[in-house]
Amino acid sequence: MELVQGTIIKVSGPLVVARGMRDANMFDVVRVGEQRLIGEIIEMHEDLASIQVYEETAGLGPGEPVYSTGAPLSVELGPGLIGAIFDGIQRPLEEMRQLVGSNITRGIEINPLDRKKKWKFVPSVKEGEEVQAGDILGTVQETIVVEHRIMVPYGIRGRVEEIRSGEFTIEEVVARIRQDNGQAADVTMLQKWPVRRERPYREKLPPEEPLVTGQRVIDTLFPLAKGGVAAVPGPFGSGKTVVQHQLAKWADADIVVYIGCGERGNEMTDVLMEFPELKDPRTGESLMKRTVLIANTSNMPVAAREASIYTGITIAEYFRDMGYSVALMADSTSRWAEALREMSGRLEEMPGEEGYPAYLASRLAQFYERAGRVITLGSGRREGSLTAIGAVSPPGGDLSEPVTQATLRIVKVFWGLDAGLAYRRHFPAINWLLSYSLYLDRVDRWNSEKIAKDWHGLRADAMRILQEEAELEEIVRLVGVDALSPNERLVLEAARSIREDYLHQNAFHEVDTYTSLHKQYRMLKLILSFCYKGRKAIESGVDIEKMFKLPVRENIGRAKYTPEDQVDRRFDEMEKELDEQISQLISKEVE
Ligand code: ADP
Repeated sequence: MELVQGTIIKVSGPLVVARGMRDANMFDVVRVGEQRLIGEIIEMHEDLASIQVYEETAGLGPGEPVYSTGAPLSVELGPGLIGAIFDGIQRPLEEMRQLVGSNITRGIEINPLDRKKKWKFVPSVKEGEEVQAGDILGTVQETIVVEHRIMVPYGIRGRVEEIRSGEFTIEEVVARIRQDNGQAADVTMLQKWPVRRERPYREKLPPEEPLVTGQRVIDTLFPLAKGGVAAVPGPFGSGKTVVQHQLAKWADADIVVYIGCGERGNEMTDVLMEFPELKDPRTGESLMKRTVLIANTSNMPVAAREASIYTGITIAEYFRDMGYSVALMADSTSRWAEALREMSGRLEEMPGEEGYPAYLASRLAQFYERAGRVITLGSGRREGSLTAIGAVSPPGGDLSEPVTQATLRIVKVFWGLDAGLAYRRHFPAINWLLSYSLYLDRVDRWNSEKIAKDWHGLRADAMRILQEEAELEEIVRLVGVDALSPNERLVLEAARSIREDYLHQNAFHEVDTYTSLHKQYRMLKLILSFCYKGRKAIESGVDIEKMFKLPVRENIGRAKYTPEDQVDRRFDEMEKELDEQISQLISKEVE
């Protein structure tokens, strides 16, 4: 439906200004020029509309027409999302390529979701039942691991007059609901939602269950909770992308939405090639069977990045509403902010810090605030969560720049990547002295209940040893290691072991790439046992050098490579070896 027709009066990169747009609305999607490029109204002044165009505008000129579609930028929600790869405005990349080849073709109209494919719909309500928005009408086994739950659309409440069962396309009616006002609503499996509007829920709850990532430095020291928000800032080459990929692969979320905001030209291609190859550790199936990818390809202008994070988070909210735990990753929000800055500059707005618009912080907040752990709409208390993790790439690694600063004021977890650690090949290069997690108390309580009673104590001890190490290093630098007491040297040795045997984790090693919480606990306990038992040995007069050379220490160093199914047996053995070898040293001393 094309309601308004205006005329272009100015083209400036991705910004087009059109006259005659008085009846259009802010955020309406428009078709621009003879080529019908896709754009969105981002500013209105009387009959002038400023339009952000999501396609290359070269060749576009004044006098060409602009049509408003009368609808805001929306995404299609329904079966077919999982496994799909979309661009920033939800055009399916593969289908687009098949349609026009890999050339840059503009103004293509293509449905995000397949209209022809039939899905097997299994009803979960009966005729005559009362339902309301958010209630589940039926399910579709979308992939081998994801059950897609078809919900009563927002704004509808009434009695199920008809419910069908069988194979349907997403446009065919699966249910008819007689609403309280007497009108009938025909429900299909396809819903639309405007991307800039948060999807409603019933109640927000504080996050408390950990989002297990299998990355030891994260899960043990700076945990993220389901429904939480985290940021990973770090200079180029410090391992941001590897961290994001590790999370996408291993985080124990039901659904993963990955938004690639084109860090480097070929980086998104890496994700696109790598993801379909990856196996989900829990199901053995391809990771794509629980993943939606949003890729800003290099042939789309920067403006499309701006839309992509809204497209991504709306899809994530939709799966949250079904009662799933969803993890969303945006890599990188700095590129997104640059798109914002570019548009703001072209709109000739008053620039804020470093040229970013004054509303940078509020836009970032609006994005992250859409994360959370919620009770969804619908009867019953269905719980879903949306965890958001944003990578930030501050130029030159300078954390005082505006995007990092604005992000840090919002997020609750900060994984600070450190160029120095990356240079020394300590990966993940998350700096343990700078990073923090405000979910620590809740998650520690959870882990102490579910994993092991002494979890909290071990974690606290490990952190204390690392902090003491930083202080002792200062002394060593000034007066040398000989000035330290045996106990202090034990602390240094324990810290080294925590860093090298525990925190250091190779993303590319078959076993080391993922560590369960149980194994993390056993590893940490073993490493700290050496410290605790070492203290006793020192009291009995054992020479500290002898202790550092115990054969068991080599095993401790290799403990991280123990396969998950051998953890208990191997760690029991190592605890025993450690015990015996230290006891031997002590008894020799006593003789
Ligand atoms: P960034 O995205 O910050 O520029 P990358 O994520 O591409 O940096 O990481 C740079 C390189 O560092 C990777 O190619 C890889 O060799 C190494 N690296 C990063 N994290 C790890 C890890 N956990 N294990 C092993 N190597 C890593």
